[in-house]
Amino acid sequence: MYQAPRGTQDVLPEDEKYWRYVEATATRQAELFGYAQIRIPTFEHTPLFVRGVGDTTDIVGKEMYTFDDKGGESLTLRPEATASIMRAYLEHGLASSPQPVKVYFLGSMFRYDRPQAGRYREFHQFDCEVIGDGSPTVDAEVILLAWRFFETLGLRNLTVHLNSIGDRNCRPGYLSILTEHFSLHRDRLCPDCRRRLETNPLRLLDCKNEQCQFAIATAPAGIEHLCEECARHFTALREMLDALDIPVELSPRLVRGLDYYTRTVFEIFPATVGAQSALGGGGRYDGLMEQLGGKPTPGIGFAMGIERVILNIREQGIPVPGIRRAVVYVAHQGDQARVMAMRLADEIRRAGIQCVVGLGARSLKSQLKQANNLGARFAFILGEQEVAEETVTVRNLAESQQWQESRQAAIERLLSTER
Ligand code: AMP
Repeated sequence: MYQAPRGTQDVLPEDEKYWRYVEATATRQAELFGYAQIRIPTFEHTPLFVRGVGDTTDIVGKEMYTFDDKGGESLTLRPEATASIMRAYLEHGLASSPQPVKVYFLGSMFRYDRPQAGRYREFHQFDCEVIGDGSPTVDAEVILLAWRFFETLGLRNLTVHLNSIGDRNCRPGYLSILTEHFSLHRDRLCPDCRRRLETNPLRLLDCKNEQCQFAIATAPAGIEHLCEECARHFTALREMLDALDIPVELSPRLVRGLDYYTRTVFEIFPATVGAQSALGGGGRYDGLMEQLGGKPTPGIGFAMGIERVILNIREQGIPVPGIRRAVVYVAHQGDQARVMAMRLADEIRRAGIQCVVGLGARSLKSQLKQANNLGARFAFILGEQEVAEETVTVRNLAESQQWQESRQAAIERLLSTER
């Protein structure tokens, strides 16, 4: 027996309603805020992620699905969307269109992670990016969009954790203060963190290992070491969020898993906070465009994990609209009626109404049973008599009423009740 690869999931039809609900809400909110949809390739040239995500990150170091294609080129399944979107911005000269460019994306991501609840190897993200404007208003709007997305879904008791990690002016100073601090605790750090101490001390703050928590809890906070401009940016953002009534919690140890962030970083957590329970997060990445070979261009974005959002929707028992299945079931008996049934079903669908026709060699009784099981509202029944008289027997399945009328009249009646 084959099984889906570890860390991947099937979404069966009975669960599809959650995906539709979340994706439709994401699309609607993004579009309400004036974002346009972008689609990006599932794989890219490996160096894009190495440069764009950063080679000291876990994603690049441990988690990428990288392979050589048959032409010997190194490709990587996308582990995140921002680097690809920036590449598209550069490649298609979007700098010459009105700024900022605001885009959203929905799609799968691939990371060789250790699978567990809410953590998969193929997962899906709702991603929003604003490129070409560095003002704190943009940061506030991006966080507002994330907040409205969750609120519209019906999720409650979420918290926005907010921090600023400075920019190229103030971060080096902060990094040396951090290095000094963590060096004092070097012997108690996990092997990964001892390595991070050399490569990227900021990432120590992100470690989930129990043995590192003491050093992390006592680490100096980045917001106390911001340069004047970063401090001004952060204050303006906080004032704006306050005016928009978005409750945020300052989280001085919050850094993000990716190297390219500057200034604003945020994550959104559900009420029951576990080590890996962030629903999503994002931040500003003003240095990324240059890193990818473009002109200095500010950017900010977020990514929400759809599987985790769905887990929380289920946990909070939020009612989700069902997907409408067949309205009409066309049942038939006899060879002539079978052909007639296929034609009638076709006509009903072309009128824009969902319709299923009995397939295979089932008895009329079993077809009607299936109609009930599918939740159809009407059964249209065709037998020898209906074929001869060019009529149809209509059964209202919910109300157990039945009548016979011309096919045209039946379709018109359907159209008037369905609109
Ligand atoms: P990141 O791109 O790492 O900032 O992740 C953004 C969001 O994507 C996280 O908050 C999660 O909701 C989701 N996410 C990240 N990695 C995974 C994973 N391996 N499985 C499921 N969801 C994930």
